[in-house]
Formats: sequence, C-alpha cells, structure tokens
Amino acid sequence: MATLITGGAGFLGSHLCERLLERGQEVICMDNFFTGRRRNVAHLLDNPNFELIRHDVVDPFKVEVDRIYNLACPASPVHYQYNPIKTVKTSVMGAINCLGLAKRVGARILQASTSEVYGDPEVHPQPEEYRGNVNPIGLRACYDEGKRCAETLFFDYHRENQVDIRVVRIFNTYGPRMLENDGRVVSNFIVQALKGEDITIYGNGSQTRSFCYVDDLLDAMMGVMDQGETVGPVNIGNPVEFSIRELAEKVLEKTDSSSKLVEKPLPSDDPTQRKPDISLAEKVLEWSPKVQLEEGLDRTIPYFQSILES
Ligand code: NAD
Ligand code: UDP
Repeated sequence: MATLITGGAGFLGSHLCERLLERGQEVICMDNFFTGRRRNVAHLLDNPNFELIRHDVVDPFKVEVDRIYNLACPASPVHYQYNPIKTVKTSVMGAINCLGLAKRVGARILQASTSEVYGDPEVHPQPEEYRGNVNPIGLRACYDEGKRCAETLFFDYHRENQVDIRVVRIFNTYGPRMLENDGRVVSNFIVQALKGEDITIYGNGSQTRSFCYVDDLLDAMMGVMDQGETVGPVNIGNPVEFSIRELAEKVLEKTDSSSKLVEKPLPSDDPTQRKPDISLAEKVLEWSPKVQLEEGLDRTIPYFQSILES
C-alpha cells in the first residue's frame, strides 16, 4: 500500500506520515514547505518506506499510489491571508491535480476540508447538511471558498469519473508540531504564556471554538479513509465548546504563567461560534474523541517548551 500525503510536512501531515509508516505502509510526503518544516519529518528520512518530495500541488505531478490524502493548504488565518490568491490556487488547482492523479491511477483520495465551509454559522452545532454562511468577498473567503470549491470538485469527479473519494471537515485541531508562529489560537496562547508575554484575545473572547487533539483527529481521518461505505462529508472534531477567554484562562493555569489577558481588535468575519455535530462520525466509525482539552494541553505545552528552549 503506497500513500501520497500532500502537505505531509505540516502539523497534521507529519503525524499522518508517522501513523501510516507505523502500519508498515509506503509514504510519499509532498510539500512546498510554506508552513511545513523539514524538521517535522526529519526523523522519518531514514525509513526505507518514506520519501520526501519538495513540490507545489499547484503544478501537476505523477506518482503511482493507492491512496492520496490531500492536506496541502495553509490552515492558519495569518498564513492563508498572506497570499490569498495563492491560497485559492492551492485549494482549487491542488484538488484538480490530486483528483486527476487519483483518476489516472485508480487511487482512493481524501480531502482535508474544514469547518470553515460553514462560515459564521447560524445553525449550532453544525451538522454536515448545513450549507453554511460564508462571506464570499471577505478576508477569509480565499480559504473558505477555496475549500468549498475543492469539495465541489471532489463530488464532481466522483459523479462524473467514479473517483473513489472521501471528504472530512476538520474542526479546530491542535497539538505538538504546530508552528510556534502559526498564528492559531492554541499555539499563540501557549507560546505567549510561556514567554510571559500578553495573551492576545481578539474581541472580548466570548466567541467559541471546539478543540480536538491531533491523535483523535487522525484516528477519525484514517478511519474515514479505510472504511468502504461513506464518502462524506464527515465532520471530525471534539464537540466540547469553550469560549476563547476560557481557553486563555486554562492555558495560564496550566503554564503557571503571570501573563496578562489583553483584548485586540476582532478580525473581520471571525465566526462567533463553532461546534461540530459528530453523530455521523460516531455512527460510521464507532469513534469519539478521547483526549479532552486539559489532557491535550498537558501533551502540547511541553512541546512548545522544548521548541522555545532550543
Ligand atoms: P499546516 O499549515 O501545518 O499544514 C499544511 C501543509 O501544506 C504545510 O506543510 C504546507 O507547507 C503545505 N502546503 C501549503 N501550500 C502548499 C502547496 N501549494 N503545495 C504543497 N504543499 C503546500 O496546517 P495543518 O493544520 O496541518 O492543516 C493540514 C490540512 O488540514 C489543511 O488542508 C487544512 O486546511 C486542514 N485543516 C486543518 C485544521 C486544523 O485545525 N489543524 C482545521 C481544518 C482543516
Ligand atoms: N484568536 C485570539 N487570539 C489569538 C489567535 C486567535 O483570540 O492570538 C481567536 C480568533 O479570533 C478566533 C479563535 O481565536 O476567534 C480561533 O482562531 P484560530 O485562528 O485558531 O482559528 P479559526 O478562527 O480558523 O477557528
């Protein structure tokens, strides 16, 4: 079994490479290193089943594989808004290139979609049937609409060309190997707390998110890829909801930090609430998240401690 992972040197991708190699599978990791790092997969380079390729998914490619996980795309608002046109190209042209390859070689292909397809949701929690509330011309649109178009392409290739697709919609996931300057809330708060810097709460911190630990996410994502019945979309996340202020207070307590909470302007179109309805994943995969926020933070904080010390 050979698997291509685009975006394989990133946060989620590097954990996925590890998990597939542990199963004895061949892994081809493709990345342009925009937000991914060679150091995330450096420990895998000696494994004869592992291959690392520097390549941009926007440009076509050919490899003989049985499965493709399409993870290539910056996930943090800071990084995906840095070059929004490139973000759209990565999602849309990346999906076309991956789907074209899947069609040619007969591979099963999974798209890492996102809760962002629901935009600023008016339905709470969000089930897969909800069609979302996305601002198509806002600052987040390059990511949200890029991912929505990628889903469209997946389903059109499935209907028109019988490509064997899987689509998962990932809700906020955190853990070791997020970049220390990633810009997402969990890594920002931990790094700020460890450095004794102000904790930057955007807005008044009443907006909510539901945080999933990386191991739980991978169990479900690999489960969706492995099962034969459901193409998706399938929500994956942890449905326990926290306000951003609650998260900040938890991080302060866990790091024993004296950092202060300071309010900064709320970015435009920042969703006010987000919580997955995971009943489909629970039913199809017999899965539910095992690692709650307290434990996930206990596993993530030492990673950032070691990165900051080195
Ligand atoms: P990440 O930024 O760590 O990983 C993305 C990877 O894709 C990086 O290694 C990056 O260098 C690579 N990449 C970006 N553009 C590329 C291109 N044009 N060609 C080749 N490689 C490219 O983020 P992550 O959290 O690991 O996210 C992985 C995937 O999961 C993304 O598609 C993201 O949209 C999706 N996702 C993640 C979350 C989350 O909370 N972590 C939530 C929803 C969706
Ligand atoms: N956020 C914050 N301070 C930060 C980074 C993010 O208050 O330093 C907020 C952000 O405005 C959003 C939430 O935390 O309301 C989650 O942000 P993140 O970028 O992690 O993910 P997303 O908005 O895509 O869910």
